[in-house]
Formats: sequence, C-alpha cells, structure tokens
Amino acid sequence: MTNRQWLLAEHPTGMPTPETWRLHAAAAPEPGQRQILVKTTWLSLDPYMRGRISPSANYTRGVAIGELMQGGGVGEVIASNHPDWRVGDLAEAMTFGWQEYAVLTPDLPGVAQVMKIDPALAPPQAFLSWLGMPGLTAYIGLFEIGRPKPGDVLVVSAASGAVGQLVGQLGKLSGARIIGIAGSDEKLAWCRSIGFDETINYKTEPDLRGALAKLAPGGVNVFFDNTGGPIHDAVMRNLAVAARVVICGRIALANAFEQDDIGLRASSQLIVSRAMVQGMVVFDWWHRRDEAIARLSALHRDGRLQTREDVLDGFERLPEAFLRMMTGANFGKQLVRVAA
Ligand code: NAP
Repeated sequence: MTNRQWLLAEHPTGMPTPETWRLHAAAAPEPGQRQILVKTTWLSLDPYMRGRISPSANYTRGVAIGELMQGGGVGEVIASNHPDWRVGDLAEAMTFGWQEYAVLTPDLPGVAQVMKIDPALAPPQAFLSWLGMPGLTAYIGLFEIGRPKPGDVLVVSAASGAVGQLVGQLGKLSGARIIGIAGSDEKLAWCRSIGFDETINYKTEPDLRGALAKLAPGGVNVFFDNTGGPIHDAVMRNLAVAARVVICGRIALANAFEQDDIGLRASSQLIVSRAMVQGMVVFDWWHRRDEAIARLSALHRDGRLQTREDVLDGFERLPEAFLRMMTGANFGKQLVRVAA
C-alpha cells in the first residue's frame, strides 16, 4: 500500500505558498505492539500550523524541512495490535500528520491521546471542529477566561470561523450581547442568523474603533481576540472597566511572527479599564475535553448550537485548504475529506 504524505519543503517567510510542501509517496507503515493503523478520512486545517512551519520555536516543536507536516485528523482503524481497538473503530488524534495512513499509539497521554469516536454523537469530522480542538478552545476561553455575564457586551473576531462561531453562540446563551467582527458581509449575515446581535466587516469599515464605540457605548466587557492586529487595537481602545480579554489567536500577525516591533500598543487603556488580559493554549486544557464534548453535543442536539464547515475533497488539496484558511477564503471550519 502506498502512503501519500505532504512533507515540508521550506520554512516560509510571510504567507506560505503551494510550494511550501511537497508530495511524497512512502510505503504504508506497520503498527507495532499496542499500536493501531488508521486510514485517514478527514484532516483538519488550523491556524496554529502556521507557527509549526516557522523556523523559530513556538510553544512546541515545529516541523523540520523534509518532515511530515503535522496536523490532526480522523480515520478508520484498518489494523489493530491494541486490545481496546478493533478494525472499523473511528479514531481522532492530533498526531495524524498530512498522510493517508497513520500509525497511532493509543496509550500516549495528554495531547497525543487517541480518542475513540462515538459515531452516534456527531459525524466524525465534528471531532476536528466543534467537538474537537476548536470547540474546547471556545468553551475554555469563554467560560474560564472571558466569563460573560448577562448584559455584558462580548466582541469576538474571526467571528464566523471554527472558534468564533462557537464563542458567539455560547456567549449569547450566557446572556451577553454579541458583536462579531469578520471579513465578509456573507459571513456576517450568517453570524446574525445564528444569534449574533451586531456585526462589523473589518475590511469595509474605515473606522473600526468608532464603529465599536457606537455599538457599545458602555464599553466592551469581554473580548475574545482571535486575530490580533488592527482589530485588536480597535477593541482594546473600547474596553469597559473590569473587562476580560482572551488572547486566543494572532492570525493577523501569523506571517509576521518574526518581527519584533509588535506589542500591546493600546496598553494605557488597560490602566483605565483595569482589564484582565490572559493568553491561552488549548492543549493545557486537554483534560477537560470530555466535559466540553458533553456540553457542546447536548446544546447541538437541542438545536441551540449551529455549526458550519468548509470542506475540500481530496488529499492533494491540503496546501490549498491551508491557504484558504490563512487568507479568509474559508467560510466555517476548514476541513479536507481525504477518503469516504
Ligand atoms: P478560522 O477562524 O476558522 O479561520 C481563520 C480566519 O481568520 C479566516 O477565515 C479569516 O476570517 C480570519 N483572518 C485571516 N487573516 C486575517 C487578518 N489578517 N485579520 C483578521 N482576520 C483574519 O480559524 P480558527 O481555527 O477558528 O482559529 C481562530 C483563531 O483562534 C486563530 O488565530 C487560531 O490561531 C486561534 N486558536 C487558538 C487556540 C489556542 O489554544 N490559543 C486554539 C485554537 C485556535 P475573516 O474572513 O473574518 O478575515
């Protein structure tokens, strides 16, 4: 059996290109003792992967040139040397990599954990999206750090994306008024259709700071920041007293990570607002996955959580899918269906 893989061809400076990766045909791997062999069915595209292909270290080890591109996926077990896993079981893990067949080690703890998917709960790809890493990010970032209260104004950037769409809806269920910021009118119309109160298109609004001040005259109580950059600056100038700021993502700066002239420019507002600013890494909260899955799947079952995916078909389209997400061409959680 041939195992197609995407290997890293270069450490990009600025926006990656399709040439950042190269296709490689290897032999399918053999599972060792207490391991399983899975056929990849879905792969997840996530902004953290941009950090992994940067030459400098992020919070974890990146991908070296010539190595298999890292990434999470789901797949079907086709051979098992582990007593708890059978052929036909569905597995989810962060350790698939961009390849058609992966050997996984179910006994590994923490983020390397392999989760057995319950197909009765949701379609398998949901475990890469609202029941997976982005779902846990929204759940923890919002409830542990943002802590919205009834009547709060909550602003979320990249509002229609995998994390943002959940933050807006969960914030609404907490009784907050939700302002979503995103880069297209179509995305924002969808956000309003799932319960966001107000929206701003950051690409067409010339005065983001002023627009926010109009929509939130009493200030922003919770800011779930998925982007950094100019959106961050505009929201920070509008913080209410005792605001909570969740620093979740920096996609607006993802290709400028190496620059050292980027900082908290509106920090005087932190004195005035006495705001709390906290960064998060979802992998610190992996032990809360079952809790998040139980809560999010119950809300989804009751029709109180809508979700949207953006699916490309075909293993060869992984670089294209990654670039779609990095440039905002995705509408909802970016996924690639590798096999039926
Ligand atoms: P996503 O929102 O589904 O996709 C990325 C979105 O970012 C794009 O659709 C685009 O939407 C927006 N974007 C791209 N370039 C931008 C720019 N220059 N300025 C403003 N927006 C831009 O991705 P996701 O998986 O939900 O992740 C959202 C953020 O959360 C990312 O920054 C990611 O790194 C972060 N995250 C962090 C953790 C953690 O543990 N801290 C975990 C998961 C995700 P528009 O059309 O709106 O521009």
